[in-house]
Amino acid sequence: MDRQQSTELTETAGQNQTLVIAIDGPSGSGKSSTSRGVAERLGLQYLDTGAMYRAATWAVQQAGVDRTDSAAVAELVRRTDLGITLDPSGPAFSVDGTDVTTAIRAPEVSAAVSAVATNLEVRAELIARQRQIIADARPGIVAEGRDITTVVAPDADLRLLLVADPEARVGRREAELAGKADRAAVTDQVLRRDRDDSTVAVFTEAAEGVTVIDSTHLTLEQVIDTICGMVKELA
Ligand code: C5P
Repeated sequence: MDRQQSTELTETAGQNQTLVIAIDGPSGSGKSSTSRGVAERLGLQYLDTGAMYRAATWAVQQAGVDRTDSAAVAELVRRTDLGITLDPSGPAFSVDGTDVTTAIRAPEVSAAVSAVATNLEVRAELIARQRQIIADARPGIVAEGRDITTVVAPDADLRLLLVADPEARVGRREAELAGKADRAAVTDQVLRRDRDDSTVAVFTEAAEGVTVIDSTHLTLEQVIDTICGMVKELA
């Protein structure tokens, strides 16, 4: 990021304030690639809140805690140190010092994460940590998830809901997994997970003040361009 861009961003965010871009959306809507791309282009930090729920799920699985014992799960998550690098070019995650960047993308974690993420005590803990990360971010941050525009950062400078048709979302996830999972498993990972997740967060309809971007027929670059254009308009 050059000096002028940096100055523009500081002005956009207001004196000594953080520019916060909140992006929600269902699985396969492209929100991770989009959020990383926007953060890289604008020189902002990047927070993948889904990875925090995945890391918490990995910790629960490693500890052998019964997922249905909500109090024990919440207690474990409160005691767990989740390390997150906020670098959009290579986000990395750790659990109590162990690198879990790859492990949290395993199918076993994807299959179990909604059960942990629908634990309300776990949510309260992770939401508090996410708010702190956002408050500390300089010169700003792109935070993505399911409840960022509504719960975690409802005062964000720009609040977006990224959507795409179900077929496009399943197709994208399938392409990401490059033949390592059949269509039924991918459909479960995308559509069943969204159904489960939507019991605790509203991410299928935009809340007031949230702009919807439908990425079904757009390339990643087009979506990133659109969002960067909206950030310019904020100034
Ligand atoms: O975005 P990703 O698919 O990695 O998210 C993994 C899971 O984390 C979601 O299926 C959902 O259960 C949970 N999640 C959440 N709230 C967020 C982000 C993710 O409940 N803000």
